[in-house]
Amino acid sequence: MDQAVIYFDNNATTRVAPEVLEAMLPFFCDRYGNPSSIHTFGGSVADDIEKARCRVADLFGASFRDREGTAAEIIFTSCGTEGDNAALNAAFAARPGRNKLVTTAVEHPAVLSCARELERRGREVVIIPVDGRGRLDMAALKAAVDENTAIVSVMWANNETGTIFPVKEAAEIAHASGALFHTDAVQAAGKVPLEVDDSCIDFLSISGHKLHAPKGVGALYVRRGVRFSPFLFGGHQERGRRGGTENVTSVIGLGKACEMALAGLDREAARLAALRDSLEQKILASIPGVHVNGDLDSRLPNTSSVSFDGIEGESILMMLNMYNICASSGSACTTGSLEPSHVMRAMGIPYTSAHGTVRFSLSGYNTQEEVDKVAEVLPPIIARLREISPYWKDGK
Ligand code: PLP
Repeated sequence: MDQAVIYFDNNATTRVAPEVLEAMLPFFCDRYGNPSSIHTFGGSVADDIEKARCRVADLFGASFRDREGTAAEIIFTSCGTEGDNAALNAAFAARPGRNKLVTTAVEHPAVLSCARELERRGREVVIIPVDGRGRLDMAALKAAVDENTAIVSVMWANNETGTIFPVKEAAEIAHASGALFHTDAVQAAGKVPLEVDDSCIDFLSISGHKLHAPKGVGALYVRRGVRFSPFLFGGHQERGRRGGTENVTSVIGLGKACEMALAGLDREAARLAALRDSLEQKILASIPGVHVNGDLDSRLPNTSSVSFDGIEGESILMMLNMYNICASSGSACTTGSLEPSHVMRAMGIPYTSAHGTVRFSLSGYNTQEEVDKVAEVLPPIIARLREISPYWKDGK
């Protein structure tokens, strides 16, 4: 393929920003000491880790610093999945005597699979539904949370549709019953302001590779005063809350990425929303039988979930791939059978639309020219696939 890659799959992962890589480089071969070492060569690295921790806290809007100036509410993790799992498990330990987890039907598997495992171990799990636009049923949430609820986990923004949930309101509902509140902010971080200080959020997890830091690093916010039981037992790293020698290079990278994300938040959000809207307008104007999924009044600026009636999302992706265009589908391919994703099913999207769902997710590296190119190649792709589709008859 000689065409340049058009990468519209940034909710899957992002490129590492050159500035992030630059910040990381000295810690590979020059400053490679162990931050727990007594000698200055290693020990001084601990200061850089603390600087990175403060940068993450700044992105979260977590202003607390302890007497040493440490953003002690932040624990570095290996990924978003670890943060989600650690929070849910820690919550049950922090609320002994309470047995219920309340979460939503559209969470990422990092929460839903963990919930299923907790259920197998005897916890009660209540799943709150969403409506056709992916909006959370807040009345059902309120009804489900009670004195037996240890933890409520509601994602900040959905990875497939970009729909943003009213997490601060959900956190207040949790606290009103004495439950803890966790939010998976993996897709929200760096795209919308988080401002945890100004909320009842107890746990918040993010993942580096979704905001231009490397894969294999994340962070978990644990509100000061909330008891946290480690998920990994070992050395005294992370104040005894996560054993294991720190992933120094990636932690430094995450700090830099958070700093950059915070500095560019408003500017990038407006630019991304303009690109996304332009893409959607062009698609809607040139292709019949198209629906944009999610809460169009409250969603991430970079995410567009588009259903093309009567065809398979995977076929569209394969044809886009021939132009070196990367996107992803709203279907999960399991053992050869193509099922619409749990998110599309939870929203009640009809199968003929849900199967043809494509997620375009943008980043600050995307351009209007790329949007124009994608909008140009899509109509003939869709027309060709509909010609051979048994599910698209007479434009229906
Ligand atoms: N939560 C959400 C909403 C996600 O989109 C993802 C990744 O796609 C994760 C959690 C898992 O993050 P990680 O890949 O870092 O484990």
